[in-house]
Amino acid sequence: MSAAPAGPAVRSGTTPSSVLENGCRELVDSFESFIRRELAPLAAELPETADLPPADLRDYVRRRSAALGFYAGDYPEELGGAGMPFTAVVLLHHAAGRSGCPLAPYALAGSDGPSPLLLQGTEEQIARYLAPLVRGEATRCLALTEPHAGSDAFRLTSTGQRDTATGEWVLSGRKTFVSNADRADFALAVVSVDGEATAFIVDMDNPGLRIGQRYEGMSGEPMFELILDELRLLADAVIGGEDGVGAAMGNGIDSLSRGRLVVAAMCNGIAEHALAQGVAYARERRAFGERIGSYQHVQEHLVSSRAEVESAKLLTLACAQLVDAGAEAPENAALAKLTSSETAVRVVDRALQVHGATGWVRGHPLEFLYRYVRMMTIIEGTSEIQKVIVARAMGLG
Ligand SMILES: Cc1cc2nc3c(=O)[nH]c(=O)nc-3n(C[C@H](O)[C@H](O)[C@H](O)COP(=O)(O)OP(=O)(O)OC[C@H]3O[C@@H](n4cnc5c(N)ncnc54)[C@H](O)[C@@H]3O)c2cc1C
Repeated sequence: MSAAPAGPAVRSGTTPSSVLENGCRELVDSFESFIRRELAPLAAELPETADLPPADLRDYVRRRSAALGFYAGDYPEELGGAGMPFTAVVLLHHAAGRSGCPLAPYALAGSDGPSPLLLQGTEEQIARYLAPLVRGEATRCLALTEPHAGSDAFRLTSTGQRDTATGEWVLSGRKTFVSNADRADFALAVVSVDGEATAFIVDMDNPGLRIGQRYEGMSGEPMFELILDELRLLADAVIGGEDGVGAAMGNGIDSLSRGRLVVAAMCNGIAEHALAQGVAYARERRAFGERIGSYQHVQEHLVSSRAEVESAKLLTLACAQLVDAGAEAPENAALAKLTSSETAVRVVDRALQVHGATGWVRGHPLEFLYRYVRMMTIIEGTSEIQKVIVARAMGLG
């Protein structure tokens, strides 16, 4: 009989998904140690009911993490990144969510950090705009959604027109639900040029750019309306220069796929954290003379959650590995984001249920997570839009 093929060395008691972490364990350990040693003590000083850490603390966390090489790890070293594989980035987001530390998400590049869209930029745009984002020295916002173009993101009514006399671009329109608009150094604004989506870089101090209404999100992060009021830009403000005119949709597809996998990873981490809290509580809390974890209705909440989290994590990590193998497919990222975000919402809900009134009290970590996780089935494309992508890939519709 032939011997079983030698696989990677695996610790006993390891979960199926952690097999896919092989090769990145040291990096994840070192990120977790950064969270434990540096971020957790800072988070412990925050008031219990403050949803959003102060802006200067978020800035500090971003810069410190960039200095340690975690923040935008998959960007090239010459821009200030660490040239990590995408799988490593996904694992770091998972670890940030799993840590339960409210500062950990700010240690990793998100929607205010470096955008793959800027990798399509000219040399000058990369040096002036992308590199400071990668180093954590600047932040940006994305102005894509419009009052009548949300899921249907490329049905834009905001326009960019060339002023033939000066060669400048003139942008007009209204953007909505823009995160980080109040803190960003510049915006990536996507508007229609002759009916084709085109991405521009707009410095936030441009006199034609105005912040309108402020919307308070359920979990404390505000969003803003941005008004493009005959906003004038130099001819070279299109991302990618002349070749970038009309190219935003094509360039955006890949970045959306990666963004979705990062959100999926954060969701899986959050779900794992909520599940751990549910299990710990069920092992201690007593009712009717027994630990509540001995009741099958409570076990059902926790075991179903475990099965779903483990499956979502496996799917997300496998998709990240496909990205590293050069086999990126939008429907894979859509499947992972759909599964992970819906799972996280369910798992946090169940963990709160297991805690009874204790979990519902303002200031309890699960009360915050319950509100925070709700955005995950909406951002980076709603769950319904992920289904549309998968259905199309299946030859339907
Ligand atoms: C926390 C947060 C941060 C955000 N940050 C930004 C940002 O920084 N920049 C930015 O530009 N935008 C941002 N957005 C906006 C976000 O991208 C949009 O909310 C999202 O694309 C959905 O658009 P909508 O809200 O207009 O919903 P709609 O498109 O109006 O959808 C409403 C409902 O209809 C469903 N639906 C729509 N079309 C279909 C279809 N074809 N089939 C089935 N169902 C469908 C949707 O799934 C949803 O359930 C943010 C949103 C949130 C919640």
